[in-house]
Amino acid sequence: MVPDIWKKYFNEEWLNRDKQKLTRKLRSLRHLGSTKVQIGSHEFLNFSSNDYLGLTGDLRIAEAAASAAGRFGWGTAASRLVTGSSTLHTKLEGEIAAFRGTEAALLFGSGYQANLGVISALVGTGDTVLSDAMNHASIVAGCKLSGATVRVFKHRDCDDLERNLNGVKKGRILVVTDTLFSIEGDTADLPRIVKLCERFNALLMADDAHANGCLGKRGRGMPEIQGVNGQIPIVVATFSKGLGSYGGFVACSEQIRDFLVNNSRPFIYTTSIPIALAAANLEALKIVRREGDGLRQKLATNTAFARTKLESAGFELTGNYQIIGVNVESPEEAMFISGEVEFHGVLIHPMRWPTVPRDKSCLRVSITAAHTEEDISRMVDALKKARNSMAKKKTDGLTRRVSRRPTEQQLETMHAASDDDFGDFDQHPGDGMMSAADSSKLPPPDQVSDFSSDNLMTTAGDTMIAEEGFAGNDRPTAPLEKKSDETPTEPVASRPEEDPQEPDPARISEPEEIQEELPVDDEPAPSGATLAPEAMELEDPVIAEIEGGTKKRQRKTARQKKPGS
Ligand code: PMP
Repeated sequence: MVPDIWKKYFNEEWLNRDKQKLTRKLRSLRHLGSTKVQIGSHEFLNFSSNDYLGLTGDLRIAEAAASAAGRFGWGTAASRLVTGSSTLHTKLEGEIAAFRGTEAALLFGSGYQANLGVISALVGTGDTVLSDAMNHASIVAGCKLSGATVRVFKHRDCDDLERNLNGVKKGRILVVTDTLFSIEGDTADLPRIVKLCERFNALLMADDAHANGCLGKRGRGMPEIQGVNGQIPIVVATFSKGLGSYGGFVACSEQIRDFLVNNSRPFIYTTSIPIALAAANLEALKIVRREGDGLRQKLATNTAFARTKLESAGFELTGNYQIIGVNVESPEEAMFISGEVEFHGVLIHPMRWPTVPRDKSCLRVSITAAHTEEDISRMVDALKKARNSMAKKKTDGLTRRVSRRPTEQQLETMHAASDDDFGDFDQHPGDGMMSAADSSKLPPPDQVSDFSSDNLMTTAGDTMIAEEGFAGNDRPTAPLEKKSDETPTEPVASRPEEDPQEPDPARISEPEEIQEELPVDDEPAPSGATLAPEAMELEDPVIAEIEGGTKKRQRKTARQKKPGS
């Protein structure tokens, strides 16, 4: 039973956020390849994903996972140091090191875990970690978990970093920064940070999550772009963005890898990633190695096209790469515009506190190699229309009370997608955190307007919505183009976590010993097998293809198992 005091707390917390238009709701999306999703019965162009190279829908990756799962099963049922380390895990780490140009690499369950696991292992009480004010939430969490003194330097401000470095009088120093910042798409000055770290004997760790695979001649991300590849001792990144898969890693020296294997609790006390996921990640790396040049070129072309179009439409943008921040004035505006563009069939994520500082709000447009010029033009048009609606709304008054209630379905869609995975700003307050938050103004509406007041849902004023406990925004009621009547897939209910059992450290064997005991034949079945034609009858083309492949393998296995066959 939930005690009343907790219920009261949950309720107050909700109402408090709701008042500020800051509540978040999960939605069930049906993923239709790399650039489209379906919500309810409507299809949207997705400009909110991190699928920068358009690989999430690549069937070669899915098929690699399916093949390996068919051979080795799904779960590994143990941590790496116990019996969860397979030759495919080791092979993947070798491939990551080769890809990133480092001596070694170590897998983590996710990029979030990697940041937690690396920072908390490297520094502790008596040490100092210096962290950029806009670093990712997982870095903030790692800093906290470490128990080290945390000094937050102003966002991208190397002078402030230097001042802070000068102030550290004892203990080891770790400097940590994102390379390509996840919300505004701006970048750290890595060459200067590298020099400062050398001068102050500080260890440098960079989170290259958003640039890995997507930027640089060989896909080695921002360090390669800025000419300091090989000079950053610890690079954390993830398979979940440009590589279209899932799972985090750290690329580093053998010595640091060994240290992490022995000291990183988020590495030691967690089950290893599924072997099938390792196989999928190997395939993703293979694709990026072979086809990366073309994909990166396409991403760069799309990015330039989108930035030019948005800028010439008068939008105020941040960053230089595929993450485009569009400045807006307030969380309300961010929500409203995000809602409006949805009405035009486009998903653009609103960024609000606690992902960004309280006085800053923006829209995050992310471009992928899979978008077409037509997709991008549609996105820009949708933003222009949304800006016109916003201007009209401002003239009419943002808090206008209205008479008619929205339907349940309208309410459902009014909850603009607002859960995000970028950060938790208040967890990492720093001196300089407001430095970039100066001119966040929505640009004036352009004169070309197809805005029609008949389209405006004057039925759902903010006041009424707030009274009802919803964080919606006014939204036109005109129906979106209906794509199909299929119900969206429901998320699988998660099970409560079991208590992790910490093994007796004395009984933890060395990773090398374990690797020697592993079977050597756990290579995945060759991927890209022809898919069964009956798969096409299934509803979801992607699932159908995977299921088709799985069925074919099952039939093959059954034939092989038949006595006498
Ligand atoms: N670092 C950065 C900069 C990120 O933006 C994210 C996710 N948004 C992560 C790490 C976490 O990566 P993952 O999704 O693999 O946990």
